[in-house]
Amino acid sequence: MKITAPLACAAGLTAALLAATSVAASLPPSPSAVELPQQGKDIAWSITEDLTTEIGPRMAGTEAESAARRWAVARLQALGFANVREEQFDMKVWVRGAEEASLTSPFLPQKLHIAALGNSASTGPKGIEGEIAYFASYDALLAAPDAEVKGKIVFINNQMERTQDGSGYGQYGRGRFMGANAASKKGAIAVVIRSIGTDNHRGPHTGGTNFEAGVKPIPAGALSNPDADQLARQWVRAQAMHTRENETGAIVYVPEPLRMKLVLTPRDLGTKHSGNVIAEVPGSDPAASPVIVACHLDSWDLGTGAIDDAAGCGIITAAAKHVMSAGQPRRTIRILWAGAEEVGVFGGKAYFEKHGTEKHAVALESDFGADRVWRVDFKLPASAKALEDRIAAALAPFGITRGKTPASGGADIGALVAAGVPAIDLQQDGTRYFDLHHTPDDTLDKIDPAQLRQNVVAWTATLAILANSADAELT
Ligand code: ZN
Ligand code: ZN
Repeated sequence: MKITAPLACAAGLTAALLAATSVAASLPPSPSAVELPQQGKDIAWSITEDLTTEIGPRMAGTEAESAARRWAVARLQALGFANVREEQFDMKVWVRGAEEASLTSPFLPQKLHIAALGNSASTGPKGIEGEIAYFASYDALLAAPDAEVKGKIVFINNQMERTQDGSGYGQYGRGRFMGANAASKKGAIAVVIRSIGTDNHRGPHTGGTNFEAGVKPIPAGALSNPDADQLARQWVRAQAMHTRENETGAIVYVPEPLRMKLVLTPRDLGTKHSGNVIAEVPGSDPAASPVIVACHLDSWDLGTGAIDDAAGCGIITAAAKHVMSAGQPRRTIRILWAGAEEVGVFGGKAYFEKHGTEKHAVALESDFGADRVWRVDFKLPASAKALEDRIAAALAPFGITRGKTPASGGADIGALVAAGVPAIDLQQDGTRYFDLHHTPDDTLDKIDPAQLRQNVVAWTATLAILANSADAELT
């Protein structure tokens, strides 16, 4: 079927998808089912299940990520996409080692659940022990005199709040992104943060931390929320451990240092290969600039990277496949399964270095879990007003509202968007995303098949309109 009318096409596709999903809904894929996945019936689920089952955790630059790329090439070819290829790049690789933390004094020793942050230095196998310097927030650490920090293990206790749009991540995440750097500059021997997460489970949330050039990397880890609570309670009690009379006869509290033993032995493996996997739905008009849709193939190593970001790869790929199956679109749809996002967006940067000077009509990314799309945000040229209206109208029946803030794109398309490529964000419900994000709980069973299908429907409707848009709307 040749697509000529973008809106009709989207509506037709959407109706077809809904019919397909109602059939699929009577056969919900069970996480514990042993039967083989039903290829073609539910592409997004199959990609998510197969990638997390057959490869599992896939840290950037490791053999697992390389196996994931081979898996991805084979799957994208099997789905019928064109120009399927790997584009390699090199990166420095960091891997986790032993991880132990305990509070050693002034109470009896107690073990805490900890995970090293990406780029953490090693304590060495024997570990280190030191006094805790407590800070309620990253800003409190920044404001502290060096003497309060020097020679100590810094603890940053800020608690991330749950929001639908995930906006707490940027605010509270600073303690993870930059806390170790700030603590090192003030002479700390290590840094431990409360996990950047909204759950009350004992699985810590990992994630990258960054040291500026010239700043000495120090050991850095995240405690689970209940373990951070425990540390905080001991800190309060240690502050009021003893009382004595001062010179004037008044009773004063004498704090007892709260001490921690820390063993983190991550290693740098040197420079290794990583890579992006790219596939295309070739457009009928070679002069028309492509639509790029992105996800990331790598994951952290604690879970199996189901919500972050196998589901995103499943969603964008299923949508592209549905548009392709409905007939050749005018614009090429380029699918980017980026490598090495988690540890520094190396795949997104490599894509931009290789393709940044090519014209892209619009960029979209799915990297916020698998829960339903609830809002659409645009950052398109003024000429695209009618196009925005068509997309908003196509999405409205699925409970998706039109946002008032400009789209910002995702990490892997960040460089493109910063260079002026238009963007659309299909915002997913992030209410429970940070319960799972970067934890051992990021596993397939957390994905709701019905919400995953809603994502695919929203993406298919959007992509069908974009891929058939006129040059006057998107150049
Ligand atoms: Zn991600
Ligand atoms: Zn992530």
